[in-house]
Amino acid sequence: MTGNITFTMIKPGAVTNEHIGDILKMISEAGFWIAAMKYTKLSQSQAAYFYNVHKDRPFFEGLVEFMTSGPIVVAILEKDNAVADYRRLIGNTDPAKAEPGTIRKLFAESVQRNAVHGSDSDSNARKEADFFFSKSERFDRQGNFLELVPATEVQ
Ligand code: UDP
Ligand code: MG
Repeated sequence: MTGNITFTMIKPGAVTNEHIGDILKMISEAGFWIAAMKYTKLSQSQAAYFYNVHKDRPFFEGLVEFMTSGPIVVAILEKDNAVADYRRLIGNTDPAKAEPGTIRKLFAESVQRNAVHGSDSDSNARKEADFFFSKSERFDRQGNFLELVPATEVQ
């Protein structure tokens, strides 16, 4: 089976405020299969690499500091239309602008400390998933290894 995936992180803040369970429940109830998951903490270089696209933005330094400040949960989520559907479930980057009932509306503390990450495209989802998980760490709904389309074929 070929998975349609997105990648998420439950960020520091949401973890230390003990919202891991609430957030995973919302993810499951929205129909996402958790294809891979781990509890970890980002190093400075991992956080800087992950958010490299934002390296020239004024918030970059503070973002890296925040993202390395405590443990996070990283996961690959599988579902049809995963990227767009997950962005809808998490809501706007700024919790003040997020729709009621979204993960960020419920659990974000600020624009920076906004509870979760969600990939913004299929190709970034694939890159982010590959950055954290090997082939032997991701599983489909049947419990078999999750086969993904080759990264070179993802637009
Ligand atoms: N961020 C921030 N200040 C800003 C905009 C973004 O600290 O003014 C942080 C926030 O944690 C956000 C992350 O940088 O989730 C990445 O920003 P992006 O614009 O990619 O938002 P996202 O894709 O996470 O909604
Ligand atoms: Mg983004």
